[in-house]
Amino acid sequence: MDISDNIAKINDKIESAATRSGRSSEEIKLIAVSKKKSTDLIAAAHHCGLTNFGENYLQESVEKISSINLNGIDWHFIGNIQSKKSSQIAQYFSWVHTIDRVKIVNSLDAAGQNLKVLIQVNVSDEKSKSGISESDLMPLAEIVIESKCLELKGLMALPSPPIDGKINEKEYEKMNMLSDQLKNYYSPANELSLGTSQDFELGIKHGSTMVRVGESIFGKR
Ligand SMILES: *Cc1c(COP(=O)(O)O)cnc(C)c1O
Repeated sequence: MDISDNIAKINDKIESAATRSGRSSEEIKLIAVSKKKSTDLIAAAHHCGLTNFGENYLQESVEKISSINLNGIDWHFIGNIQSKKSSQIAQYFSWVHTIDRVKIVNSLDAAGQNLKVLIQVNVSDEKSKSGISESDLMPLAEIVIESKCLELKGLMALPSPPIDGKINEKEYEKMNMLSDQLKNYYSPANELSLGTSQDFELGIKHGSTMVRVGESIFGKR
């Protein structure tokens, strides 16, 4: 496995997917999801020009972030948030993609660190999934906008996995529409975090500005 090859291939695919949708690849950030991957692999990806890294597990990521000595990395928290861990998340990360309830907004805000945040939407509306329901989205957005330290930057979603190989594109269309609605209401919230190794090209087709790619960069976990 060659990380630089993997990254070059993904960058090409991002470029073509953007072109196909009449978009510029410059509006799309590649976030390297490095959960369960070593700091050496993170350094290798950084050496290939990547500066945005996503982590899910707080304990693991704090150890990695504090031991890594690289300039200009933006760390994105993309895992489930426990409110009692909020101050640690705010201390180590500059972005949080997984805000989905008032309690978390309040506990992150209370940490007193400036944070860029995305609201996670439960676009497939499965009970088991995290994310806020569509109908509760705007009230939560309002609370984030009014917070002291949190900067509302947009939305995030993890659409449901394909069933019999078939992806439900409606969920992507829905996220694109919700993202447009939010932007119209509050223009700084212009980011949409949508797409993993499996579906980042589809995410880009539907307005994604942040693709979260793990295994296609670093190999299987
Ligand atoms: C692990 C993870 C990813 C990356 O998934 P890959 O299949 O490795 O690309 C993206 N988003 C979230 C929320 C994740 O937990």
